[in-house]
Amino acid sequence: MKAMRVQEFGDPEVLRLEEVPTPRPGAGQMVVQMRAIGVNPVETYIRAGTYALKPALPYTPGNDGAGVVEQVGADVNEFKPGDRVYTAGSLSGTYAEFALCKTAQVHPLPANVSFAQGAAMGTPYATAYRGLFQRADAKPGETVLIHGASGGVGTAAVQLARARGLRVLGTAGSDEGRKLAREQGAHEVFDHRAPDQFEQIMKATSGRGIDVIVELLANVNLGKDLTILAKGGRVAIIGSRGRVEIDPRDTMQRDVDLRGMALPNTPPEELASIHAALVAGLENGTLRPVIGKEFPLTEAAQAHRAVMEPGALGKIVLVPNK
Ligand code: NAP
Repeated sequence: MKAMRVQEFGDPEVLRLEEVPTPRPGAGQMVVQMRAIGVNPVETYIRAGTYALKPALPYTPGNDGAGVVEQVGADVNEFKPGDRVYTAGSLSGTYAEFALCKTAQVHPLPANVSFAQGAAMGTPYATAYRGLFQRADAKPGETVLIHGASGGVGTAAVQLARARGLRVLGTAGSDEGRKLAREQGAHEVFDHRAPDQFEQIMKATSGRGIDVIVELLANVNLGKDLTILAKGGRVAIIGSRGRVEIDPRDTMQRDVDLRGMALPNTPPEELASIHAALVAGLENGTLRPVIGKEFPLTEAAQAHRAVMEPGALGKIVLVPNK
């Protein structure tokens, strides 16, 4: 089969098309034919060799994808060849025509959801769900700020929070991004490049403050985030690309909690619960992943560049044989 492989860490051009053996499933495993593959920022950090966890070289990147079950191993009763599924993790990497997965990494893809949309579930939707509900404990009736509401995780968080009955404020860096955030369910939108964004957001709460902030760029925003929280407010720190200065007094005055998260730390039973909720949301139509750009699998390097550019508008996916 064809796969995009990394032989050495470096810039996007290290992603090269190679012919590799098609995986075969062992007990408790399955092979999924990939129809769409999700591209996430973390895959660019890993490819560059700057991420804390480095895979052994050479490797095939990717955790997220959607497609059709090709083959199941012994002891797999949950799925059969031909089933539509999405993947949240993979043993062999998803930037390929086929991916080897453990059964627990595979979830049903309802008929009303496209493969490209399925490729948005494994990382962005699971992260948004965990950040909002398992880490920040966001509750119906509370006000949430999705700080970075135009990208893969942000659009997912807007849909999830809106469906759960929160008042949703979102930010984006472009008019198109703000339009998108509003279309996905944000009650009010703001420009995260505007110097007075925090004053505007505080005003939108009539001075009471925000209960939960889902923060996608903490190195830029965390210090100011702490000044617009309500008493007992929580910040789910999901994205950060550097250091930031905070005034600890801002947390003391409001009994504020900072709750960092990395999706791979999620205990298996909580992860299973996340995907049960996500599949239900896909089935009932409250979750509708937004696809920003599609690239052929062979153009993974361009997709890696695109996912790090400003002006996110939903999810970037790769399509084999496009
Ligand atoms: P993405 O699709 O590229 O979206 C990036 C988002 O960040 C866009 O909404 C972008 O808005 C926004 N942004 C840019 N400047 C900002 C600012 N000054 N303040 C607030 N937001 C700003 O990426 P993604 O997949 O959603 O991931 C977002 C971040 O979360 C990445 O850093 C990623 O590594 C991280 N992440 C972490 C976990 C975890 O387990 N902790 C899991 C998944 C992702 P505009 O483009 O409109 O400016």
